[in-house]
Amino acid sequence: MDTKNVEFARSLIGSTYADQGGASLRRREGLVRVLLTQRSLPEIGWDDATIESFLSDCAAMDSNNFLDSVGAGEREARVFSSLVKRRNMGFGHGIGRSGDVATVQPKAGGSSLIYKLTNRLALHASKVCGVTRTEGCLVLPLATGMSITLVLQTIKATMRKEGAKYIIWPRMDQKSCFKAMLTAGCVPVVVELKRVGDELCTDMEAVEAEIVRLGAENVVAVVSTTSCFAPRAPDDVVSISKLCASKQIPHVVNHAYGLQLSKACHELNEACRVGRVDAWVASTDKNFMVPVGGALVGSPSESVVDAVSKVYPGRASISPILDLFITLVSMGTTGLKRLLQQRKDVFALLKEGIETLSRDHNERALNSPHNLISIGMTVDSSIASDDPLIITYLGSMLFARGVSGTRIVNKNETKSIEGFVFRGYGSQCNEYPHAYLTAAAAIGMTADDVAVYIDRLGRCINEFKRQKRGGGGGGGSRSDTPSSPFSSQTAST
Ligand SMILES: *Cc1c(COP(=O)(O)O)cnc(C)c1O
Repeated sequence: MDTKNVEFARSLIGSTYADQGGASLRRREGLVRVLLTQRSLPEIGWDDATIESFLSDCAAMDSNNFLDSVGAGEREARVFSSLVKRRNMGFGHGIGRSGDVATVQPKAGGSSLIYKLTNRLALHASKVCGVTRTEGCLVLPLATGMSITLVLQTIKATMRKEGAKYIIWPRMDQKSCFKAMLTAGCVPVVVELKRVGDELCTDMEAVEAEIVRLGAENVVAVVSTTSCFAPRAPDDVVSISKLCASKQIPHVVNHAYGLQLSKACHELNEACRVGRVDAWVASTDKNFMVPVGGALVGSPSESVVDAVSKVYPGRASISPILDLFITLVSMGTTGLKRLLQQRKDVFALLKEGIETLSRDHNERALNSPHNLISIGMTVDSSIASDDPLIITYLGSMLFARGVSGTRIVNKNETKSIEGFVFRGYGSQCNEYPHAYLTAAAAIGMTADDVAVYIDRLGRCINEFKRQKRGGGGGGGSRSDTPSSPFSSQTAST
């Protein structure tokens, strides 16, 4: 209701209540005004009612919701189901136009406004997280892997000479980032990491040697990674960025869950300052607690981000954009900073818990001082087996007890991804000297989660050892327990 209408209400309900109510409406309008003028995260997050009322205004600005509209085109955002309409809060036109995902859609002023704002909020959030040298930020309705593909395709098409196809890639055992390079029509050149104590680090000499061997002009980009499972360390993005600057090779940083890591963001920012970073890609779900569906493409140069939005063919879903918009507006700077701090504190607790637990079980926590989100713990003596069935059994026991996310790494696994063979897949190197498990403290995890996790992990390891000693499923009669590989050999056939 605008001020004029409040005036009319005055004669019905009296001035006291009309003025009070009017003041409340104006406060909400004030929040919207700050958002539209500052185009940054609100200091304090908005309440749901304010968000809903703003979104409902925006939806009313789209042609499918005009009171007197009649559509005679092939895309009029007609929605059959009222449930679907509500689920989308009245938005139906998506974002973008055929030629550019970031341009204004003429039929959808409201949707376009939400998208523009979301990109600005994401830019601000990236800076709050620590990547202050971000000049352009585009939220894509694609998860991280596909967004990396799009960035690589853009670079390949717009920045490199015809025929350049190689991507120099310090090994990172995660399938989607590997497939992202293949899908972009590139040829990944895997550079093995070097082990320093327990930790696996970027081998800069090997990276440089590969560039020299292939010829810099034949390389599309170096793709580095800042967020990964222990005992892999984040890549040395600063050195890589310097090398890329000197060799004039684009540098794309896979920052998948890196925005929540202040150290990784600081390193990335340094890399942007002292060397070459063309773009970084970060997941919306992993960093901002929204359902899977989007990614941020950030860059120290606005033109790179513009080029990516122009390569995107056609329109796109607004769903992941709306999720991020709502989340960022309701988090505010204060909420985001609080969550980032909480994550740091919780990681310290997790590390402590894993260290204690490993001592209790004659194991040890892997020393990976550069990884500040994930921690590994050897399970050499607990598992004491190379049988993949036995190794994965501990993982399935945990899963059955409602513990997800623990990775039990079978260092002997060989995996082939579209013809590329990786030895020791999952352990980030050909021959890691330990069997181990990993756990991570990601944004949103609480101290209580850690306590419950450590407790259940301890119980599981005990139970695992009991079954192993007994050679059978003693105590494993719970219906949610997977069948024990210790009880009989036939289980494996
Ligand atoms: C999550 C993740 C990706 C991308 O996975 P999507 O499912 O495409 O979001 C890529 N690399 C790393 C290191 C990741 O953690």
